[in-house]
Amino acid sequence: MAKQRKYIFITGGVLSSIGKGISAASIGMLMEQRGIRVTMIKMDPYLNVDPGTMSPFQHGEVFVLDDGSETDLDLGHYSRFVQNARFTAKNSFTTGKIYDAVIRRERAGGYLGKTVQVIPHITDEIKRRIQDASVDSDLAIVEIGGTVGDIESLPFLEAIRQMRTEEGAANVLFVHLTLVPFIAAAGELKTKPTQHSVKELREIGIQPDVLLCRSDRKLPKEVKEKIGLFCNLPGDHVFSAVDVSNIYEVPLYFHEEDLDEKIAEKLGIWSGRPDLFRWREVVKKLQHPKGQVYVGIVGKYTDWRDSYKSLSEALLHGGVANDVQVNMVYVDSEEIEKGKNHELLDKVDAILVPGGFGERGIEGKIQAIEFARTQKIPYFGICLGMQLAVIEYARHVCQMKQANSGEFSPNGKENVIDIIESQKLLKETGGSMRLGAYPCQILSKIKNETTRAFEAYGRELVSERHRHRFEVSHSFRRILEEKGLVISGKYTDPHTQNELVEMIELSDHPWFLGCQFHPEFLSRPLQPHPLFIAFISAAKKHKGNVQ
Ligand code: GLN
Repeated sequence: MAKQRKYIFITGGVLSSIGKGISAASIGMLMEQRGIRVTMIKMDPYLNVDPGTMSPFQHGEVFVLDDGSETDLDLGHYSRFVQNARFTAKNSFTTGKIYDAVIRRERAGGYLGKTVQVIPHITDEIKRRIQDASVDSDLAIVEIGGTVGDIESLPFLEAIRQMRTEEGAANVLFVHLTLVPFIAAAGELKTKPTQHSVKELREIGIQPDVLLCRSDRKLPKEVKEKIGLFCNLPGDHVFSAVDVSNIYEVPLYFHEEDLDEKIAEKLGIWSGRPDLFRWREVVKKLQHPKGQVYVGIVGKYTDWRDSYKSLSEALLHGGVANDVQVNMVYVDSEEIEKGKNHELLDKVDAILVPGGFGERGIEGKIQAIEFARTQKIPYFGICLGMQLAVIEYARHVCQMKQANSGEFSPNGKENVIDIIESQKLLKETGGSMRLGAYPCQILSKIKNETTRAFEAYGRELVSERHRHRFEVSHSFRRILEEKGLVISGKYTDPHTQNELVEMIELSDHPWFLGCQFHPEFLSRPLQPHPLFIAFISAAKKHKGNVQ
């Protein structure tokens, strides 16, 4: 008989932003390290069909998968915590996507004259998608976005309520994350918000099996017992989710309280204890770094760090690999334009310009790149950051005074960055952006010297994820190369044989590299990305030089 698949559904109560994604990812990591085949799914209650069109200001980063789907930033957490699951478009869906599918089916006559309703048609579509995304796993961990009590999430909650009955109570576990605030004036941990949130869940037919209580301290046994009593579950099914200094500590705390053991017991999963040796090593290195580096990140969303979530994580991973703490100094490019912030750039050990869209702050970023190039400060340009490095080089080294990107000067005469072959490619894929994984051929040597790209990767063929519209233009490639810009990574379109520039670098600089793709999406604490390892190593060397 085929093994019965198990499901864990994670809901959140009281407030948003109390760490549901990290809690889900942590449970995924612990169960995977117990030797179980895990997958993770995120269901979002908003009506956008995917987060691709949403502002990172509001919603945080758009996380891109290999297959080109634009997903919620929680898929980024899952990818960093769970090693073996391969996430695709199926692992993330929204209310918008569900309704879109149901309405299309209705228009195509798929419901044979029936009245199409939330129950059962929307809920059936939700259940079908959960099952479809879980096919290759023994345990599916499903996170429901939003907070219990929101109108939008009701169909999702109804669908998971039905699944408990259909799949069997022994195969489905409801985990609920709530907040237990410490009220200083009373000197007490307050359980009332948790009681209310669980009451709300029970009203719609869901009795949580396990409670994770976010709090600034560990919950004492009496508090757990009290919560258990009011929420109709045993006190030893109530766990603390304490505030931690870095997110990678969360699964270790959960494990310390035997959460994974309890989950395995409740779901009847036979497995050994998790192997957390390597994870502990990473946490130790984050807690006790041997040194420090300061990386200036020049961007415009300076006050909204969630829009660079994968990037900041990848930098931390690069730090772990180099035994240093990476301090990120957010530098507002518009302030650089006003002539300020040069002092800030002076103090950092390396400069990074991340991906971005739109014209605001562009000139400040170009100034920062010029500063990094001429002052020989390690520079890493990602996507837009690479495009701007090419523009900077064209303007100041190749004397192309009007060098620019088609994104900012559509009719410019010297658009070294423009929409070119990608347009053809996009017509085939039907989208407006080049999205997802493409192979990149790495140049190993230039004039007998190993390229920085090859030095970092140690191989000639890699695959990296993309999310952009513009490319380095063919028309100006020769002049850029003649003046010393090294194209150290490229993609050859298998249909047209046309080449797209994937990576650029400079030979006469300690470390100056740009990539058209987003390496941060592939970095993990247990497998830091090679380019981030190399960049932080260069920052460390630079620090050594300037001291
Ligand atoms: N705006 C640029 C483009 O569309 C860069 C995109 C990015 O950095 N992700 O090509």
